[in-house]
Amino acid sequence: MGKKLEYFKFEVYATNAKDRIASLTKALFFSKGDFVPAVSIDKDYHTENDKKEMGYEIKDTEKSITLSPDLDERNPQFYIVEIDRKKVKKELQLRFYVKKGKEEAKDLRGIIEAKGIGVEIAGKAKMELDYGWKFDLKISTDNIKKDARIEFYAEDDDKDTSGDKILCGAVYFGYKQTCFCDRDFTVEEMTDIVTQLRKLDDVKMVPQLNERGLIYLDKSGNQIQQPNGKKPPEAVEIYRLEKNAFDEEGIKIFNWGAEKMQRQDATIEIFTKELNSLFKEYEIKTCIRKIHFLAQAYHETQRFHITYEASPANTPHGGMFYRGRGLLHLTHSYNFYNAKAHMQDKSAPIDSKKIDKILAENPNTKKKLDEFVLKTTKEMHDAAYSSGAYWRMYNINNYADDDNVKKVSAVINTGNATKTNINGLSKRKEYYEKLKKIFEYEKCINKK
Ligand SMILES: [Zn+2]
Repeated sequence: MGKKLEYFKFEVYATNAKDRIASLTKALFFSKGDFVPAVSIDKDYHTENDKKEMGYEIKDTEKSITLSPDLDERNPQFYIVEIDRKKVKKELQLRFYVKKGKEEAKDLRGIIEAKGIGVEIAGKAKMELDYGWKFDLKISTDNIKKDARIEFYAEDDDKDTSGDKILCGAVYFGYKQTCFCDRDFTVEEMTDIVTQLRKLDDVKMVPQLNERGLIYLDKSGNQIQQPNGKKPPEAVEIYRLEKNAFDEEGIKIFNWGAEKMQRQDATIEIFTKELNSLFKEYEIKTCIRKIHFLAQAYHETQRFHITYEASPANTPHGGMFYRGRGLLHLTHSYNFYNAKAHMQDKSAPIDSKKIDKILAENPNTKKKLDEFVLKTTKEMHDAAYSSGAYWRMYNINNYADDDNVKKVSAVINTGNATKTNINGLSKRKEYYEKLKKIFEYEKCINKK
């Protein structure tokens, strides 16, 4: 899902016992004289300066981090720094101070080293200092990875200690989830959507093969050797594995059919680009509209595989050439004619009899229509836009806004929202439910 770097979270501890047992153990065994600091964000410095200047501000939030009582019985601290993305610079300077992490730690001086994990420290990362000293750390805001953090390690500079380093503070880089309203999908997100849809899809039991042929099971369920590929006498059944659509196809898209999409267009990158573009063009801009559109497209194209209907049940209006094509499998000559016109000038659909007459009387118009029809199978742009045009011509956004999957399905399948005999309604509903989960629709900012 879409995640944006939104805040820093500072945790202050000499060690945090919960998931840093090893480091804690080390710190407990440090002798009384050792340097055991706790690194903390200098809150006052940042509060005064940074909101205006740097685009971030430190706010007190929950005090949820508990220091090990052996190390620091004073108040634990936990700050969240919210970041204003518009103001944030390429480099952030953060000021820290060092306090005593262990009451009896008598050695005042030691070395603190900052280690960036998934984030680059732009300046000096290692310094020698005393309790009470402050130090500044520069962080490059370019390319901060998910789960990035900075950890501070303390090292005693006395010769009589083991030289082990202890963790004495950390900064986490937090991400907030953003929904898909009014923004594009990234290629990564679209890959994730296709992956999750296929993983959630029906599971098939697929017979397993080895180099000799089928694998068999004995009555205890053990795999058995099968000389010459023949069924061994003790075999009771063929060994089958559960496979979902993702196991079978991965994220390969639009790669099936007697006629299919041209190879250079059948990629997640092009799919993402054209979807984003059509969603803008046809006002499919909220999560719920996108969920409905993708659910219908996933059903019509057999899980994003075909832009050409294999074997239509009935002859489409105008002949078999006008079978289901594109992301929503437009069918019938008049639907293609209207979608093409709508793509050009947003015109409203016209009556099929009128279209028949136009096509009969104007061979050039028919020739151009047929070229377009072919492209709705072969080219991602026309596969996507023909479907977007149909979506808007029939005001499907309104049914999506009402979250009425039945009416959306009726218009896609029959062209008429009041029809009740809808092909594949249960599958359409299933994909729509799955997409709601994948989108984490609960968190959508426009959810009613
Ligand atoms: Zn949303």
